[in-house]
Amino acid sequence: MNLPERYQSLLQRIHLIESKQAVQLLAVSKTKPIEMIKELAELGQKSFGENYLQEALAKIDILPELDWHFIGTIQSNKTKLISENFSWVHSVDRLKIAQRLNDQRPDNLPPLNILLAVNIDNEATKSGFLAEETLYNAKLINELPKLKLRGLMAIPKKRTGLENQRQPFKKLRELLEKINAETEAKLDTLSIGMSDDLEAAILEGATIVRIGRELFGKRSNSN
Ligand SMILES: *Cc1c(COP(=O)(O)O)cnc(C)c1O
Repeated sequence: MNLPERYQSLLQRIHLIESKQAVQLLAVSKTKPIEMIKELAELGQKSFGENYLQEALAKIDILPELDWHFIGTIQSNKTKLISENFSWVHSVDRLKIAQRLNDQRPDNLPPLNILLAVNIDNEATKSGFLAEETLYNAKLINELPKLKLRGLMAIPKKRTGLENQRQPFKKLRELLEKINAETEAKLDTLSIGMSDDLEAAILEGATIVRIGRELFGKRSNSN
């Protein structure tokens, strides 16, 4: 299949899954050339996710009219450029990062949409808020005026089988519901589901699925 065919078949796959919520496709374009992004943009795809700041900035410079989401690990010395150039950040994993993004968001831009990255399987090697510290941090981050706290993001451990894959997503959805019930935050976004588990994620309430390989084909490195 070529790129337009993969795009149409992915959209169909997403829309065939029964869900109450609207599901938005975030095209994860890391390591992929600008020509492929242009081709998808011409087919109507607006939202793109990038992990590596320098690579992303070069692309944003060429296609500033698209909706750019930062989904990669954030070093604190990179927050200024992220805050100035993106409309969404999915990977806020520490309070300090949120504070810096807030302080560095330019006044002429609308609030930056923020998702808290949750380490939903308690993995020692993974960053992100632990489930039990997320509510407290959501409360604080929700007060920051240049940010708009929209929801939660997670990348669970690899699991096989639909029922196994649903478990961590369910846990994340329940955490979002708890935050909405017990704080002033009004979270409306669950960024879950990648190429191998998008069905499970949509069944558990994904509103954004982040898809790379299934759309663009395999990446040459393992990023
Ligand atoms: C690379 C990446 C994706 C896309 O993963 P695929 O398996 O290629 O669909 C989604 N989210 C994040 C945070 C990523 O780094």
